[in-house]
Amino acid sequence: MTAMSVPELSIVVPMFNEEAVLPLFAARLRPVADGLETAYEVVAVDDGSSDGTAIALQKQRRVWPQLRVVRLRANAGHQAAISAGLALATGAYVVTLDADLQDPPEVIAEMLAVARAESVDVVYGVRSDRSSDSRFKRVTARAFYRSMDAMAGTAAPRDAGDYRLMSRATVEAVNALPEYGRVLRFVVPALGFPSASVTYRREERAAGSSKYPFTKMLRLSIDSMTAFSLAPLRFATLLGLVGGAASLALLIFALYARVRGHVVAGWTSTVVVVSGVGAVQLLALGILGEYVGRLYAAAQARPSYYVAYDSATGSANPAATRQP
Ligand code: UDP
Ligand code: MG
Repeated sequence: MTAMSVPELSIVVPMFNEEAVLPLFAARLRPVADGLETAYEVVAVDDGSSDGTAIALQKQRRVWPQLRVVRLRANAGHQAAISAGLALATGAYVVTLDADLQDPPEVIAEMLAVARAESVDVVYGVRSDRSSDSRFKRVTARAFYRSMDAMAGTAAPRDAGDYRLMSRATVEAVNALPEYGRVLRFVVPALGFPSASVTYRREERAAGSSKYPFTKMLRLSIDSMTAFSLAPLRFATLLGLVGGAASLALLIFALYARVRGHVVAGWTSTVVVVSGVGAVQLLALGILGEYVGRLYAAAQARPSYYVAYDSATGSANPAATRQP
């Protein structure tokens, strides 16, 4: 297969400073991909790495013709890196998976078989066992999926991350969405295309360390919530209503106390009420701000990534820059 012919399967892999895991990843993925007996390409998206990832990828490319290297100009983040891969992938099916071998590549064969046998558009990889993740990660992930479920009622299967197979139609649909800061694990189920799932055991990161610090996890959670649910805004309204009812009760009490002549200094209650109401107002403002911020970012329409290089064309491909 030449790099330019259309493959049956594209495997999109976002990589940010993954020099340590790359040789292990290639050694494990290649036999699996070769064993599929299908024309494939591996689209490695180097998300502005500052370590030796770019060099390691070029080294791999010399011995692995199906490896296609895409480099982004700057670190755009996990979701944007996957988006870049989806925009450039040409396969009839596209699988996305992480580079750290937490998503075992062997499952790709199963996903492809299910997609073909059941003619579904999406096959989710669902983690049956997260015991390899840290306790903190498990607890926060659980809280995240639970609250998304409760607030947005998304059709996303629980414990499905970004390991999934999508048909060409699904990829085109995702690429056409103009949404800013899209979180693919909720965007894809929201399309409502026919889907199936396969379960797998999430493994330990094979080498290197997590590229998802708490701040990025928080960002992902806030993006997911504000993209799919108005519940936080309604929560702010509810807080306002409850606060209003409480102050009405307080007013009645104050008037009653005044009539009875019990007018005390009341410093404590004043401080409590003022600071309480202030906190609630700030919270509501902050929630509102998240939505306004999304609108603001969408109105600016800045591209979420810039492609610097694509080994399939040998040069930068400005057409592949997503707007936004
Ligand atoms: N990643 C990326 N850009 C980033 C952060 C992460 O492309 O800014 C990639 C990373 O190289 C890996 C995947 O996204 O392939 C998932 O990251 P990681 O394994 O560090 O996250 P965790 O599994 O700890 O949640
Ligand atoms: Mg990982």
